[in-house]
This record gives sequence, structure tokens and C-alpha cells, in this order.
Amino acid sequence: MTNQVRDPYQDFHERSLRDRDAFWTEQAALIDWQQPFEQVCDTCRPPFARWFVGGRTNLCYNAVDRHAAKRPEDRALIWVSTEVEQERVYSFAQLQREVERMAAILQAQGVGQGDRVLIYMPMIPEAAFAMLACARIGAIHSVVFGGFASVSLASRIEDASPKLIVSADAGSRGGKVVPYKHLLDEAITLAAHKPEAVLMVDRGLAPMSLVAGRDLDYAALREQHLDARVPCAWLPAEHPSYTLYTSGTTGKPKGVQRDTGGYAVALAASMQHIFCGRPGETYFSTSDIGWVVGHSYIIYGPLLAGMATLMFEGLPTRPDAGIWWQLVEKYRVTVMFSAPTAVRVLKKQDPAYLTKYDLSSLRALFLAGEPLDEPTSRWICEGLGKPVIDNYWQTETGWPILTVAHGVAPTPTRFGSPGRAMYGYDVRLLDENTGEELREPNKKGVLTIAYPLPPGCLQTVWGDDERYVKTYWSSIPGQQVYSTFDWGLRDADGYYFILGRTDDVINVAGHRLGTREIEESIASHPNVAEVAVVGVADALKGQVAMAFAVLKNPAVDALQEEGAIMKQVDQQLGAVARPARVRFVNVLPKTRSGKLLRRAIQAVCEGRDPGDLTTIEDPSALQQIRELVAN
Ligand code: AMP
Repeated sequence: MTNQVRDPYQDFHERSLRDRDAFWTEQAALIDWQQPFEQVCDTCRPPFARWFVGGRTNLCYNAVDRHAAKRPEDRALIWVSTEVEQERVYSFAQLQREVERMAAILQAQGVGQGDRVLIYMPMIPEAAFAMLACARIGAIHSVVFGGFASVSLASRIEDASPKLIVSADAGSRGGKVVPYKHLLDEAITLAAHKPEAVLMVDRGLAPMSLVAGRDLDYAALREQHLDARVPCAWLPAEHPSYTLYTSGTTGKPKGVQRDTGGYAVALAASMQHIFCGRPGETYFSTSDIGWVVGHSYIIYGPLLAGMATLMFEGLPTRPDAGIWWQLVEKYRVTVMFSAPTAVRVLKKQDPAYLTKYDLSSLRALFLAGEPLDEPTSRWICEGLGKPVIDNYWQTETGWPILTVAHGVAPTPTRFGSPGRAMYGYDVRLLDENTGEELREPNKKGVLTIAYPLPPGCLQTVWGDDERYVKTYWSSIPGQQVYSTFDWGLRDADGYYFILGRTDDVINVAGHRLGTREIEESIASHPNVAEVAVVGVADALKGQVAMAFAVLKNPAVDALQEEGAIMKQVDQQLGAVARPARVRFVNVLPKTRSGKLLRRAIQAVCEGRDPGDLTTIEDPSALQQIRELVAN
């Protein structure tokens, strides 16, 4: 960062590391504590770290009760479903009552502090009540994405060993009912662990039969607990608040375990410094509660900041591609959070939708979860006339590692870069072979975070400390660094660029290439809507790049278009990066959370078993690639 001009953010970041305890003590004042902490960070047992030791607090109290006390009538939860054509708005006071009812139901079933509650639900308010109710009484929630089928659900039930499961009769996607109950019953049959009770929310979407002695009807129990008052349990800061299983891992799922106090502080601080959300405003994240963004920025973050959170059940294109913007107008949304993949879906639609509604309340659109390519970023930024802010993080960290913190100081963004290292993160680029830190700008290295991780990041892998240490902290021998498994590069001004997963790297004739770079180049071709590039084994070159693209207008001569795209890559990156083939597909294989399944594509191209495909959105996508490759 030799040429970097000093700016207030740089000072802020440096202070967060140099003067760590004072910095985080200030941030900790953003939440209420029942008992103050005695030690800011206990680093006695690296790589483990304990934040705000001795302090007692409660996530639900900070997210709901403290606002309900001061602003009971203000909106807290806005639920909109374009699937079932319903909208519901809960004030902070109403949300508190619903959470207390849910908490009373859980307690009546014997759920107490430290017990696990697995939540397998669609995007309905009761899912939020259940999460907050767990936080209220100190039960540990484990939300499993509603789209998972029974085998993945069973392995998560087994790992979390929940006392109780909360679920619903069905979700709905694109107007089609997706029944849950039979998947849940099957998962419970498959899992070695059996929950004592299953609490079912009946939306009236799909028939379901309740198992006597195990299954409970939420509506009936809620009636019994209408007047319930359940106090918040004052929990030690390091009490686990939840576990969340990471996507894309093979074999046994990895339960990311988060604490209570550190998480509350980290999110409250991020709402102030990064998202700039203020009490009384509305936050709209298009994610799902089954993913980390749903935990941090549908439920906890906005509510901690005293904002209303808009929970949306529906697709971005139904009833038409203007639905998000219609909601922004209707609820005066100020901060919005989505993923590049969703924007690419909109990119295929009429851009007139972007200007159809009054978006004057909206200050910024945050995008995360995957690389944000320049054409997509430009398209949405120019279409909306609003700042688009890329942010890079992981399920493990719970909040952004790299972005820009406009709440600290106005900071220009750069296309292709999620931004700079966030306060609290001591980000280092390391040489993958020697482990040496790459201090010079524009050097590609493994993106790591030096010990200790800031508050809010994972405490450990649920039930497996050894796996936590081995997976994340052992890639550079002799160094206490957490590996993100991403390649990164930092320019002279401290802006980072993510160049793909360390495991996605390809090596063509001795040249190391990031598939991301090739994808960006191809994506900037005017007829390309989306593209995935993978490295495929090649007898001559070691590996070659193979590209699979979705065309905006497929009615073209495929060979000619392939040639034109290759020429463009040649021109932009050089012939070394030119893919061996560019094949055209209708849809790319992705997880339900929108991540490209590159490794599965690679396996299919190499004639191998693609492995665990439980997270795949559309299995036919892989089939099309299989057929293309076979011909
Ligand atoms: P997950 O834990 O499923 O959210 O996935 C985290 C991974 O997604 C990271 O390790 C990155 O590889 C990728 N990722 C997330 N956000 C970004 C971003 N803004 N830019 C590039 N890659 C990202």
C-alpha cells in the first residue's frame, strides 16, 4: 500500500488492529449489555478467540425488545409474498409478542439454553419468530435452507442433534407449491438422531399428516400462549447463538458456529459503518434465511439497527421484473442487498423496469456472494442511478471482509474490486508456496486473515474443534492465519480483487489462470448473459479452459459466435487464456443460492462423478453439459 493516500478510513482500519481493545469497546456500546464484559478479547488459546469475555447480553433483546420499548409502533418486519399474494407488517411491539409466543411454545416442549432447534422453513414470518425465539431463550438455532431435500436435511439433523424442529407444510416457488413435510419425515427416518418434537406451521398450501406424539400444530399452540411473556435469557457473550452449514462441502456438513455478543457487536457495527442503516428506515435483502446473508442481513443486522426488515418470498421476475423496485417504492427502502446472479437474471429482462418506480428512498444496492463482473455492475448501477457496492465475505465470517465503509468515510469504489479490508480484519496475501506475505501491490496470493478473527466470525466448527483448526488454520505451516481459500490481489491503493477460489485455479501450459478473469472477459461480450469457465484436464497442456455460456440471443450461428468470443478473450487477456471451447447452454448449473457449480461442471467435462448435487437448482443444466461434452 506504498502509494496509498492517507484517508480517514485507513486510519480507522489501522486503529482497529493496533488499538484493538479500545476500538471494539467503542463498537460494543452499539448494543445493550446486561452485564459489562471484563476482557475484550481472550487470545490465550489460538486459533480460538473469545470476544467480550464476562459480558452478558441477548441478541433478541437487542434486535427487538429495546426498540419495542422506545418505538413500539414502528415497523419491524414487513413480509411480502408474491407466491401466495400476501403482505403482513409487524411493529416492534407486535414482533416482540409473536416471538414471546413462539418462545413459550419452545419452552413448553422443554427447549432450554444450549438446546438445538432446527428450522426448516420457507420465507415466512414464523421462521423469523422461531430464530428470534431461540435467541431469546438461549437455544441454538440451525436453519436449513428450505430447498434442501431429505438426504442433506438428514445429515444436518444428525450433526445438530436438535431437540425440536420447526417446519411448515410447504414453500412456493414460481407459483408452484413445494411440499416440505414428506421431506422432513423422510429426513427424520434417515437420521440417527430423532427430535423429540416437530412444530408445524400450516399455511394451507399442502396436505400434511401429523405424527401423533411428535408433531405439534403451531396455530393451536400459539392460541394457548397468546399472553405469554418470556423474559430474555442473559447469556454469556460466547454462548453459541447458531450453527449454519456451509454450502458446497463434500461429506459431513460443516456447521459454522457463531457466538452471541461478538456477533451482535459485529453486525451492529456493520450496520453503522458499512450499510449506513438508520432506525426507522427499511432494509431489503433478497436472500433467504437459509443462507448467511439471511441470518446477518434479513434478521439480525437490520433489527439490531432498529430498522424494519423486508422479508420477501418470491422470484425477482414475478409477477414481472419490476417487483423489487415496486417494493422499494412502496416501503421506502433505503438499503438493499442482493447477489450478482439475481441481477444477471434481471439483465435479461426489459431495463425499463429499473426506472418505472420511485426509487428516491434507496441509497445503495449491496451485492455479495460471488464475483461481481464489471458488465453486470455497470448495467445495474447505470440502470438504477444508484451506487452499487460489492462486498466480499463468507458464511464463516458472518459480515463483510472486503468492501467500502461509507459510514466511516466516503470511499470511491472500483469496478471488479469488492473494496478494501474492513476494520477488524488483518487481511494478508500470502505466497501459496512459501507462506511469505506479499506486501508489494498487484501480486496474486492466498487471501488470509491473521489471528484473531474479529468479532462475529465463526467460533469453531460445531462439535469439531479439530476440524476447525485443520481446515482453516493449517494451510500455511507455522503461521496463525485463517485461509479464505480465495485468491486475491491488492492494488497500490489497498483495493482487493478476488481471483477465484484457490481450488478453482487452472494451469494452462504452465500459466496459472483464474477462471474468474476469463469469465469476466467472456461476460463482457454483448451477447453473453452468463458464463462459467472451468479447467479441464488436457494431455498436452495440463489443463485447458472450457467455457459454458448462456446467450442473450441464442438465434445466432454457434460456431461464429464461439469464434467471436474467443477472439475477444484473445484481445483482452491474450491467447493463453483462450478457452479450448465455448459451448452454449440454456442454463448454468448452480446451487439454489446462486453459486455456480464449477467443480461439478469440471467433473462432468472430465468424465468423473460430479459428487454431491443436493444443492443443485436445476439438474437438467448438468445434463445438457454432459451431452455437449459427449458429442
Ligand atoms: P459462502 O460462504 O457460500 O457465502 O461463499 C463464500 C465464497 O463466495 C467466498 O469464499 C468467495 O469465493 C465467494 N464470494 C463471496 N462474495 C464475493 C464477492 N463479493 N466477490 C467475489 N467472490 C465472493
